[in-house]
Amino acid sequence: MPYKSSVPLFWRLKKSKYNLIGTKCNTCDKVFFPKKSLCPNCRRRGNLDDFQFSGKGKIVSFTVIRVPPEGFEKYAPYAAAIIELDEGARLSGQIVGDFSKVETGKPVRAVFRKINEDGNEGLINYGLKWELSE
Ligand SMILES: [Zn+2]
Repeated sequence: MPYKSSVPLFWRLKKSKYNLIGTKCNTCDKVFFPKKSLCPNCRRRGNLDDFQFSGKGKIVSFTVIRVPPEGFEKYAPYAAAIIELDEGARLSGQIVGDFSKVETGKPVRAVFRKINEDGNEGLINYGLKWELSE
């Protein structure tokens, strides 16, 4: 579904971040996440449309983070993974739940969770994380 141009950029960015909206090239049929403005395969011959991913994928590789970056301390240890979406694009993300159950090749699905919290301002950022789906 194409975005209306009257929607502020901020909200469009938020929407694509939360809903796993990427780009599909109708010339070569490849999908991309995050969104691209130019197909890396077809360049000017590319014909790009918004593409809604299903939010399902599998773990390609992962690492367990025991010493996390600032703001993520209370989640440690946690697994950070490279995920291949069923539609073909790859992205990285945090796996929620018991990290000892995380294995390469296991199926995951996108979930909407708190990403971090700004202690001074009380700001809470939400975004996509991943959980094992079996
Ligand atoms: Zn293309």
